[in-house]
Amino acid sequence: MRSNSAAVLELKNISKSYGDIKALADIDYTFSLGIYGILGPNGAGKSTLMKIISQSIKQTSGEVLYNGKTCDRSFLNCLGVMPQGQELYPKFSVNEFMFYMATLKNMKTKKAKIAIPKLLKVVGLADYRHRKIESLSGGMKQRLLIAQALLNDPKIILFDEPTAGLDPNQRVEIRNFLAALAIDHIVIITTHVVSDVETIADDILLMNKGKIITSGNPADLSDAIYGKVKEITVDDKELACLKNHPYTIIASKQDTKIIRIISEDSYPDEKIVYPSLEDVYSYYIKE
Ligand code: ADP
Ligand code: MG
Repeated sequence: MRSNSAAVLELKNISKSYGDIKALADIDYTFSLGIYGILGPNGAGKSTLMKIISQSIKQTSGEVLYNGKTCDRSFLNCLGVMPQGQELYPKFSVNEFMFYMATLKNMKTKKAKIAIPKLLKVVGLADYRHRKIESLSGGMKQRLLIAQALLNDPKIILFDEPTAGLDPNQRVEIRNFLAALAIDHIVIITTHVVSDVETIADDILLMNKGKIITSGNPADLSDAIYGKVKEITVDDKELACLKNHPYTIIASKQDTKIIRIISEDSYPDEKIVYPSLEDVYSYYIKE
């Protein structure tokens, strides 16, 4: 799974409209080796962007370049995709599904026979290879979708909401697994859940309404809003006046509360705290 060549994936001015809906507007970004987290609420345009990179839909304007060249069909050989939603074949066994996907990827049978048991082992499904897909848990199905995305040693791997529908333990499991992939791949993970990517992504792209609102490594994003996240103590009446700012209640004592608030205003006795990625998200994305 390791090779030494570099890889650069460039998105140049990508826009996509579905009729009157502008799903993406002028997306410009360059991915190199590493893990990227595309974070944004539902409808932000994440899946649309993944589908454009994987050529399953066409952009309205703009281009995708891989190592400086326009992506053609051969680019798909460098790509592994885990689409959003578990569109699996319920009656297939785990093995049958993997061989079926290998065929779609033009893998030689000999190569597939070596790769499939290895990949199933990596995602912890080796013992389930003869089980029908319909009998797998949600977490197992997600892991199977990850395994098929890794067939044929792709250089670029797209995971669209890989932890959707999973419980917290399964989320951690998938997250750790994705983190181990990085090094010489371009791994792009979309999610609306901050904790899915905050500890594993080298760079975060915050998306909303078809645009990249900001991007950078998690520490730089936090630094950029430093001073705007604070803890203050308020009574219920004061709290009611703060409704315009995102806040969370940290502790309640009789009629006073300690809250963590994101605000440019100053408050008496405020304590500035270091912004988390969750704070960064709330600061830029007001739903
Ligand atoms: P996300 O994955 O971030 O939730 P999507 O890329 O799925 O966002 O959707 C972005 C926007 O484009 C939304 O407003 C969505 O309703 C719209 N959209 C997505 N797919 C289609 C489609 N096939 N036809 C019409 N509108 C679509
Ligand atoms: Mg989506």
